[in-house]
Amino acid sequence: MLSLPLEIAADAGDFAMLVPRSYVRRMQPGNPADPLLRQVLPVAAEHQPADGFVADPVGDLAATRGPGLLHKYHGRVLLVLTGACAVNCRYCFRRHYPYATATATLRQLQPVLDQVAADESVDEVLLSGGDPLMLGDDLLADLVGRLEDIPHLRRLRIHTRLPIVLPERVTSELAELLGRSRLQPVVVVHANHANELDHQVAEALRQLSTAGAMLLNQAVLLRGVNDNLPALRALSERLLDLKVMPYYLHQLDRVAGAAHFEVPVERGLELIRQLRAELPGYAVPRYVQEIAGEPNKRVLA
Ligand SMILES: *Cc1c(COP(=O)(O)O)cnc(C)c1O
Ligand code: SF4
Repeated sequence: MLSLPLEIAADAGDFAMLVPRSYVRRMQPGNPADPLLRQVLPVAAEHQPADGFVADPVGDLAATRGPGLLHKYHGRVLLVLTGACAVNCRYCFRRHYPYATATATLRQLQPVLDQVAADESVDEVLLSGGDPLMLGDDLLADLVGRLEDIPHLRRLRIHTRLPIVLPERVTSELAELLGRSRLQPVVVVHANHANELDHQVAEALRQLSTAGAMLLNQAVLLRGVNDNLPALRALSERLLDLKVMPYYLHQLDRVAGAAHFEVPVERGLELIRQLRAELPGYAVPRYVQEIAGEPNKRVLA
């Protein structure tokens, strides 16, 4: 197994280093190969251009239907309300996304909601970002209320890394807000390694599941972080302990600056085969890759 280049970047470029303290506390002090550190530490390799690694690898800009509204897949629309995150993951496929112009501001929100209301084929709204839980509870409550008024919506899905990186963000107000909605809440968290899932994270997830949210996890297959069988197995087992279904394992999107995280697809397929031989079927995530222009994410295994 190749290890990740270690030379720390003198300059993080236009994607600053950003990590919550509680996440840093889950790292092993003095270990430069720590799988959590690797996800957030700017390294010099980010500045090396790599063939095929581009600014918008998944065609998001082409799927934009209005400020902050992406409609790529049947029945589901994705709302981007903020570009803010509590952490800057170095492999993030949105690291070059033009949030300043492609985010729905609150003033622009009503026209976006009107578009959702006008399309009866849409039954699920996904809040994404950035991280939608960077918005305050009042604002989210207002938004959920307005979504509930659209009769053909059935589910509200929130894609968020905050319960993992900043579990104190999961307030009882937030859990109640989701629990009392007529929309079925689905919370898709993002953890890549079992060490991210400490007791505080467990408590945040417990609150969400007690409130009635369905909990799923998506991870990204990352060189030097989770590209080995013990790491992936421990992640799945820990997620199941916390009542979270391992939903997706993403092949890395080829975003400029992230080439050093890439794991070959053949290696990913082999890891999934090994996982499947050791774990119950529901503990094995679908290994997927996003291909611009396809009608769904491509299932590799
Ligand atoms: C990934 C994604 C979705 C959700 O896809 P699922 O396969 O239902 O999880 C929806 N919209 C966009 C733009 C996406 O990238
Ligand atoms: S939390 Fe998600 S959107 Fe935010 S930087 Fe990390 S991968 Fe990107």
